[in-house]
Amino acid sequence: MTHNIKFLDLNRQYQEIKAEIDSAIATVIESEEFIGGSFLKAFENDFKQYLGVDHCIGVGNGTDALEIALEALDLPKCSEVIVPANSFIASSEAVSRCGLKVRFCACDPRTFTLDIDALRACISQSSSAIIAVHLYGHPCDMASIGAVAEEHGLHIIEDCAQAHGAEYRGIKVGTFGVAGCFSFYPGKNLGAYGDAGCIVTSDNTLAERMRMIANHGRKEKYDHQFEGRNSRLDGLQAAVLSVKLKFLDSWTDRRIGFAKTYLAGLTDIPDLTLPYVASWARHVFHLFVVRTSRRDELQRYLQKEGIQTGVHYPLALPRLAAYRHLGQSTLTDSINEELLSLPIGDQLSPEDTQAVIAAIQEFFSC
Ligand SMILES: *Cc1c(COP(=O)(O)O)cnc(C)c1O
Repeated sequence: MTHNIKFLDLNRQYQEIKAEIDSAIATVIESEEFIGGSFLKAFENDFKQYLGVDHCIGVGNGTDALEIALEALDLPKCSEVIVPANSFIASSEAVSRCGLKVRFCACDPRTFTLDIDALRACISQSSSAIIAVHLYGHPCDMASIGAVAEEHGLHIIEDCAQAHGAEYRGIKVGTFGVAGCFSFYPGKNLGAYGDAGCIVTSDNTLAERMRMIANHGRKEKYDHQFEGRNSRLDGLQAAVLSVKLKFLDSWTDRRIGFAKTYLAGLTDIPDLTLPYVASWARHVFHLFVVRTSRRDELQRYLQKEGIQTGVHYPLALPRLAAYRHLGQSTLTDSINEELLSLPIGDQLSPEDTQAVIAAIQEFFSC
């Protein structure tokens, strides 16, 4: 039997909330509050309350959020920022674009987040900050990272692009570092209908500086205090996000439920390593990533069965052409060749997860 199980089905999610979304979009257009305005303010308030922080600054996308947060910290020129070797390029791109040096750090092979021993070994005289990426939706070990950062006087910036609502010991990610950076790219756990992102912080001075950087270095219309840039979360996206935020926790619970089904249904397959969830973690399963030495073969088999999968990511960051000049590629083994992301999302159905489990069992049975 062939299925039609998409890796991501945003239309199915839209159908669930269509009336509310359509009305929110129409309201923004009628009010003409496309840039700035009440819809942006409302979402910024909603999201900062959701996380329990003092400030939320809407920006154009998650990459801008990281860049603006780093720029606002005004770190010593050419100092080193530690970035996990496993992530999307935005995590390290932001560092280089701020005139800082990227120092890649190996990840814990179970959680795919910063390995604490490796982190200690990465620190040098020139270290200035750590980017903690809550990859796949699994929170980093924030107490250990916090202790290392404090000992060496380093800032922590959290890359929460895959971890909306994830928790470390019951506390939401994004609230541990000096700043938390979120992406609302359509496919993220909280996604807009276009590009969008935000930075959260409880540091008043930093918040003001980040807001000014994102708004041409100004607070008032033509009173530019310095050269900033233009990075905006627009009114339409903000209104969409305010609607979707109300559903985030129930959608996340659905993801966690599907993950539990996978975890229970795929045990005891020798060549299949399932995602690990630390005892202190609320893993929000942006991705459900398994490991197998037969990755490509399994992916082709599932494709034939009508089940879409993904690979996150084909190469660790230090191995990308963009970072060859850093000579840090020996830092990672070939773990990336074994990674496969199974379909997961609020739009999936219990039947879908059962079909995926059955197909994977069938594949490994011979
Ligand atoms: C998606 C993502 C980003 C970048 O977000 P954009 O909104 O696409 O710029 C940054 N870091 C990680 C880990 C991501 O997954």
